[in-house]
Amino acid sequence: MVDALGASLAGIKAAPLLTPQDRGNSVALKKLVAGNWKMNGLSSDIAEIQAIAAASRDFPGVDVALCVPAILIERAARAVPAFPIGGQDVHHAEKGAHTGCISAQMLIDAGAVLTIVGHSERRDAQRENDAEVRAKAEAALACGLSVILCVGESLEIREKGGAIQTVLAQLDGSLPGQLAAETELAVAYEPVWAIGTGKVPTTDEIAQMHAAIRDRLVERLGPQGKEVRILYGGSVKGSNAAEIFAVPNVDGALVGGASLKMADFIPIVAAAQ
Ligand code: PEP
Repeated sequence: MVDALGASLAGIKAAPLLTPQDRGNSVALKKLVAGNWKMNGLSSDIAEIQAIAAASRDFPGVDVALCVPAILIERAARAVPAFPIGGQDVHHAEKGAHTGCISAQMLIDAGAVLTIVGHSERRDAQRENDAEVRAKAEAALACGLSVILCVGESLEIREKGGAIQTVLAQLDGSLPGQLAAETELAVAYEPVWAIGTGKVPTTDEIAQMHAAIRDRLVERLGPQGKEVRILYGGSVKGSNAAEIFAVPNVDGALVGGASLKMADFIPIVAAAQ
């Protein structure tokens, strides 16, 4: 039974989020603003997703996506068929004895076209390590899901001066070995101390980190490393988005709290345009 189901899902592929050509070029990548709803949202919030999708159409120069709780993906994807809906995590295995977990094929089957992996809340609460995050990213990309891979340092590490070294080590450990043309990998730099706190690094700190990530991506992936969008995440709001988006190598944002309501999220999208 399980095998038959697995076999029937094996052929499922997600539609690509964006082709490399659509994403722009190494000089100016089109910005991606992705919302992370975390454990927020009920079926009564589908109307808010519809409002966000509709308002996003006014900003064709920006790619916009929402990563919603797994249980809402199918309803959201049906409600906004042309708008990218994603998951917030994925299991590395195709199927099997993993109670409570969700595979890439299941996400695609529900209508997702992307997923977040390695969010600091999962690295912390679920003790996910770099090797697991890499396996998740590879499984998702192999199935046709685009991936937002999160990295970021704690406050303690930043204060000790080890932020760049720590983030590059996370990247080295969790970056997929290979990218596919039809799916996208984006990297989100999210300092743990900036998530949900209202604290934001200085633009110089963001610039330094994003430049270091860009260099490491090019070192690891060659010219493809120039096409990987590097998102900033951590207390992005309508009031600080324009300043953050003006920083070199900031190719968009991963937004938590401010993505829950259209009135908070769309000003960030507007700033990206
Ligand atoms: C996040 O958790 O990915 C995030 C960036 O959260 P917030 O925008 O609420 O800081």
